[in-house]
Amino acid sequence: MIEKDLGFVLRRYNFRETSLIATLYTSRFGKIRGIFKGFYTSKREFSSTLDIFTLNEFVFYPKRSEIWLVSFADLILDYSFLRETISKARLGALFLKLIDRTMQLWDRNFFVFHLFKDCLYWLNQKEELKTSYIFLIKFLALCGFRPQLNHCLTCEVELKEKAFFNTSRGGLICKNCYGSFNFSYEISKETILSFLYIQETTFPQVLRLALTLNCRKEMDYILREFFLHHLEFDIFPGFPLPAPQEEELLALPPAERVAASKRGVYCG
Ligand SMILES: [Zn+2]
Repeated sequence: MIEKDLGFVLRRYNFRETSLIATLYTSRFGKIRGIFKGFYTSKREFSSTLDIFTLNEFVFYPKRSEIWLVSFADLILDYSFLRETISKARLGALFLKLIDRTMQLWDRNFFVFHLFKDCLYWLNQKEELKTSYIFLIKFLALCGFRPQLNHCLTCEVELKEKAFFNTSRGGLICKNCYGSFNFSYEISKETILSFLYIQETTFPQVLRLALTLNCRKEMDYILREFFLHHLEFDIFPGFPLPAPQEEELLALPPAERVAASKRGVYCG
């Protein structure tokens, strides 16, 4: 049966003289692999350059074999801003690589598609810093790897103050149970609430959240450990963004400090 869908180009390579094989992340079919026969022969059916990151409309023929025939590709959005700023390119590449590595072929996830689309949009709206945390936190939840942050993993008491993150258990331990876990990292209540706010709030409201340097430091720890341990994926060096240290920022004249805070570098 013939199908039409929107999809991002995640990866591509040339096939024989004139054709192209690409990995796409589509809205309704999830990750698919497609062959574009005659792509380099200027076929009218392929009006898109099919660059990495581009969003296109595709017509294809789903079947049991791994590679599907794609008969039509029309460019919808090219996200060329990603090629103009290194930090944005790096974050976009991190999002794309995570989707490609984590999502299985034909594993449909409409919400991952829209998270990627929304985050690329907000990356272009000078919201790099927050968008990067929002993508990673929401992506984990959508893939079924939601860190347990509401209750202590051991005694199940509701967490009302600071707690301790335990990587192998994938969540928080209260101060009373902390003694029995050797490798746990203290997390402030502010960070726990920020993490939960991001998990539960949609765009654009989620961007209202202010992230202090301490909150970012603790989120960096949780995210890096969680991705490494549960998805075997190191989110560094693509993350976090280069940002001034608190001391550097305080050394700035007040006007520049305000400008830096407006850029979202520091939201204390
Ligand atoms: Zn406990």
